[in-house]
Amino acid sequence: MHYDFIIVGQGIAGTVLSWTLLQQGKKVLVVDSREKPNSSEIALGIYNPVVFKRMTKSWRADELIPVAEALYTDMETALGIKALHRNTILKVFSSRDERTFWEKKMHNGEAMNFLDNTKEQSQYTSVIIDDIGSADVLSSGWLDTAKLLSVYRKFLRGNNLLRTEKFEHVQLVVTKEKLMWNDITADRLIFCEGGSATTNPFFKNLPFVLTKGEMLTIRIPDFLPQHIISKGVYLLYEYDNIFKVGATYDWDDLSDIPTEKGKLDLVEKLKNVLKVEYEILDQAAAIRPTVKDRRPLIGLHPEEKRIGIFNGMGTKGVMIAPFFAKQFAQHLEKGLSLDKEVNINRFTN
Ligand SMILES: Cc1cc2nc3c(=O)[nH]c(=O)nc-3n(C[C@H](O)[C@H](O)[C@H](O)COP(=O)(O)OP(=O)(O)OC[C@H]3O[C@@H](n4cnc5c(N)ncnc54)[C@H](O)[C@@H]3O)c2cc1C
Repeated sequence: MHYDFIIVGQGIAGTVLSWTLLQQGKKVLVVDSREKPNSSEIALGIYNPVVFKRMTKSWRADELIPVAEALYTDMETALGIKALHRNTILKVFSSRDERTFWEKKMHNGEAMNFLDNTKEQSQYTSVIIDDIGSADVLSSGWLDTAKLLSVYRKFLRGNNLLRTEKFEHVQLVVTKEKLMWNDITADRLIFCEGGSATTNPFFKNLPFVLTKGEMLTIRIPDFLPQHIISKGVYLLYEYDNIFKVGATYDWDDLSDIPTEKGKLDLVEKLKNVLKVEYEILDQAAAIRPTVKDRRPLIGLHPEEKRIGIFNGMGTKGVMIAPFFAKQFAQHLEKGLSLDKEVNINRFTN
């Protein structure tokens, strides 16, 4: 069987890139081992245009968010699901200084279009600790990544566009005429392997600095907020009193096993947020494909131009992947240039 593209990996990167190529009429095969839940599936799926630490605009948020929302809306329509939630983030202040800083940046600074007026108390004051006040972040939301990836996987399987197996790099045969993997031939092969890319022999020198992240699933009775709540940690309402809490950052332990340390870290942070009791239902961990310079790693192999990589989505795959999937697809098809900031040739040249 011959394909235009083999895409290795069906996290958010492989999902969005394969979808974009399919929309352009390409014949695509997606290969994913499904050995364990990937980083995309356990992610909270939040997109936030503001970096809270400095109250600055998140990298290119004003360009990335509209493209992301448009792509996910198209996927929702085609797949017949609801996965994108345009939800305001309620930033709850931890200190007077933080609030004063927000009030300054609201009127002056690159994030000002995303920072709403501060308020003394939120409507959730019986449940959350918001005595220093809070404010809304505009143009934010979250994607139900687990749902989108699972329904898209069914769509791929139903159309014979999916292989559920590990792509062994040594099995790839590269000749002048074709790329061959088992019984499959393809014009091009793009790796979207997330954190596993560090063992990819074609792209082994790229400067990934992987980060482990952990999250909790909790139940809070009788609380149905309209906002995503943020106070040192995100609290995201999913459904039926079920919330996701996240996330931790660990650069040393790169196993994807949930730890007591991760749990305690999140429980400690929740003490500053919640006034009410909650029950922990689940805990999960995964590895984020973060990069030394905090920018994606996209492009074609310096010598073998039929093999490429679409990775390095870091902590913000939901927001970043759609814009650059579009750009990469145009690069692959029409030879249009990739942004310097994301092109792997910043490291391979
Ligand atoms: C706790 C936590 C919370 C997060 N919260 C957010 C958030 O709120 N918002 C946000 O935007 N981002 C968040 N992230 C980051 C987000 O998860 C990443 O940016 C994103 O998931 C990266 O997607 P990916 O497709 O590159 O990698 P992955 O999701 O890891 O997918 C890679 C896929 O490739 C497959 N694969 C790899 N190698 C092979 C092979 N050889 N053969 C076959 N298949 C292979 C794997 O099975 C996997 O399915 C969070 C991450 C964590 C851990």
